[in-house]
Amino acid sequence: MPQEYTKEKSEMLRRDIRGRGISDEKVLRAMEVVPRHLFVPERLRSRAYEDHPLPIGEGQTISQPYIVALMTEALNLKGPERVLEIGTGSGYQAAVLAEVVKEVYSMEIRPGLAETASRVLAEQGYGRVKTRVGDGYFGWPEEAPFDAILITAAANHIPSPLIAQLKVGGRLIVPLGPTTHTQYLTILTKQEEGVDVVQTTPVVFVPMVGEVQKPRAAK
Ligand code: SAH
Repeated sequence: MPQEYTKEKSEMLRRDIRGRGISDEKVLRAMEVVPRHLFVPERLRSRAYEDHPLPIGEGQTISQPYIVALMTEALNLKGPERVLEIGTGSGYQAAVLAEVVKEVYSMEIRPGLAETASRVLAEQGYGRVKTRVGDGYFGWPEEAPFDAILITAAANHIPSPLIAQLKVGGRLIVPLGPTTHTQYLTILTKQEEGVDVVQTTPVVFVPMVGEVQKPRAAK
């Protein structure tokens, strides 16, 4: 029988997820059921339930479990929402989202990672997560608007097309800041007019690439 890491997973849940203050039952349940070891390269499986990021190829990483739980909890999801993720990576965060909400869309700029992630997602029963290769800066206009958007790569500004694709009252979370240093998890809530922005936990993410890195015209 394949190794299921049941003991390691429940230890992670106790120590790093509940133990560090995650309390949303839906998020806890998702962290309990998604097999993180199947979203990392085979040689790293035995380390999948340690609380740190791991390499997934092409210089990219699967986020630390606590940060996945924290970002998911911050979106305050109830179940019927449509959520867009930017940065599919391994597909792990998308699987966690799929345990919490009905509709998950996920975009990845690196075709090789997108391909592996969509295969693993399908194999693990998350075939209803819709994936697309492309620059997430521009979002997924055909499927907009979204109730929530989660960016899992560091950006020095919030892409305006993504704000446009958010419903009024919807939330967007992004590691915002210089991509060579610490960023701050930043939660934006779209209002009838304008947005509310709250800066929270310091984090370190791999950079968002593509359009977001181009110099912007002065306003
Ligand atoms: N959420 C992932 C971790 C993502 S790491 C997981 O659960 O495993 C960040 C990912 O963002 C990388 O895979 C990287 O290729 C991707 N990325 C970087 N810039 C992007 C962009 N502009 N659009 C879409 N994906 C991007």
